[in-house]
Amino acid sequence: MKSVFAASLFLSLLLCAACSQAPEGAGADAIIAAVPGGDISADNLAQSLRVLTSDEFEGRAPDTPGEEKTVEYIAARFAEAGLEPAGDDGGWMQQVALERSEIDGPVAARFTTRAGVRELVQGEDIAVETLYPHDRVDLRDVPLMFAGYGITAPELGWDDYAGLDVTDKIVVVLVNDPDFESGEGDFGGRAMTYYGRWTYKYEEAARRGAAGALIVHETEPAAYPWATVRNGRNGPQYDIVRKDAASHHLPMRGWMQREVAERLFRESGLDFDAEKRAAQVRGFTGYPLAGASASLAFDVRRGRIASRNVAGILPGAERPEETVILSGHWDSYGVIADADDRGDRIVNGAVDNATAIASLIEIARVFAAGPRPARSLLFLAVTAEESGLLGARYYAANPLRPLDTTVADLNMEMWSPDGPTRDISSWGVGKVSLERDLIETARREGRGYTPDENLEAGLFYRADHFAFAQAGVPSITIGPGVDQVDGGVAGGKAARAAYFERCYHQPCDEFSDDWDMRGPVADTRTVYRLAADLANRGDWPQWDEGSEFRAEREKSAAARAASN
Ligand SMILES: [Zn+2]
Repeated sequence: MKSVFAASLFLSLLLCAACSQAPEGAGADAIIAAVPGGDISADNLAQSLRVLTSDEFEGRAPDTPGEEKTVEYIAARFAEAGLEPAGDDGGWMQQVALERSEIDGPVAARFTTRAGVRELVQGEDIAVETLYPHDRVDLRDVPLMFAGYGITAPELGWDDYAGLDVTDKIVVVLVNDPDFESGEGDFGGRAMTYYGRWTYKYEEAARRGAAGALIVHETEPAAYPWATVRNGRNGPQYDIVRKDAASHHLPMRGWMQREVAERLFRESGLDFDAEKRAAQVRGFTGYPLAGASASLAFDVRRGRIASRNVAGILPGAERPEETVILSGHWDSYGVIADADDRGDRIVNGAVDNATAIASLIEIARVFAAGPRPARSLLFLAVTAEESGLLGARYYAANPLRPLDTTVADLNMEMWSPDGPTRDISSWGVGKVSLERDLIETARREGRGYTPDENLEAGLFYRADHFAFAQAGVPSITIGPGVDQVDGGVAGGKAARAAYFERCYHQPCDEFSDDWDMRGPVADTRTVYRLAADLANRGDWPQWDEGSEFRAEREKSAAARAASN
């Protein structure tokens, strides 16, 4: 990991030196084919963005009239671009069966400690939810147990649950992993591992038979503010339909504000920060919070819905059975309960992730306008990413094209409207050859590559490509760089920080005609060229030695060899 980082950083430093001397595309090495169809068009990208982010699309939440408009729009644009339908039964849509679960009415919640009873306000103090198959949560005076970071990692000799029986108890756990704050250790230091993700913590607590889990929110290790937590739990929750839902899901799960946890620990005779530090030391094991219990009651409205992935294909000229997937998620957060200070309740999801859908449509257009690549290209707009990568998970479980002969998934997220950059990036460190392919493609264009500098956010586990990775398919999520042509790295980082602080998953993530489209155009062009390269090559991208996904891919390599 470190050497990849160092090599890439060195490379991008070299390239940035080159870039500052020559305009984009004019470097000595930058002998690259013209993009067919008159190049990636800023106007086309802006037009798609204008429509997808309009209030008429109601923030593109699954299972709303906004979904209908969104998927119909994408399908129409795929058709207009020249793709063929690749969904179920010869159509554009892949039906995605989801469980839907929504809190119905008020949440009654309180902590009881030695200091007395304290009422908790949903959205302010806590943000709870459930995906458990029941119609009411009614937990009364359930003991609270502190389980540190909530991690059981046998390969690292770490078990926060050792000797702790949390059956039918509520566990209180910390966000991220034990070495985030020290920056050094077995859990990747500042980089978040899967053990740091809230999804993992819920899964582990459910395996332990807990009645619930409450994660203590802290902005830095969570990598997002409380508003993001609250807004993300304001509406319905979804999962793919599971036979084992009752054992897979906790009866109740959620977050609490750090201040609420501090008080809870204090009233249990403990200091939160001291206990947190203790939980960062190997050998820590969890314990009951003396005298503390929680009661939570709320009704749940449940149902099954069908959302949709949109799929279009450009069959390959020579090896059509081999497929390169380009993907992005179409969903955003819809209409939320709490208006922002401008009175806006619609999370239009412009940067996240209408930018990627606009690129998907535009890349389809230029491919269809040019010579047909050897391999097939599948354009996949997936649903319910924001609910847990569900459209991508559904696809990976029910692929429209065999995964054995799926070359790669190139997923796109969140292009930047803040001005063009000298570089491009990808999320997380994936230990996958596609990262080097991306670096090489960018280099030929006279652009650099900046590895994810925000490894603490655990982005590798927070984008749709992760669902493909778990199924063994080499995959990356490509995102914008940070080294602005006009503002440098400082400008790029400031713009990124401002977006995450103010607009990420909030109503202010809106498109405006003032957007600088040069960044999205350049990034879309790089993705097009990488896809063209992969679709014309004969080899198969690989997970590197040490990647947790390599073993799964080796099975599909064996399957390909057997069928040849
Ligand atoms: Zn996104």
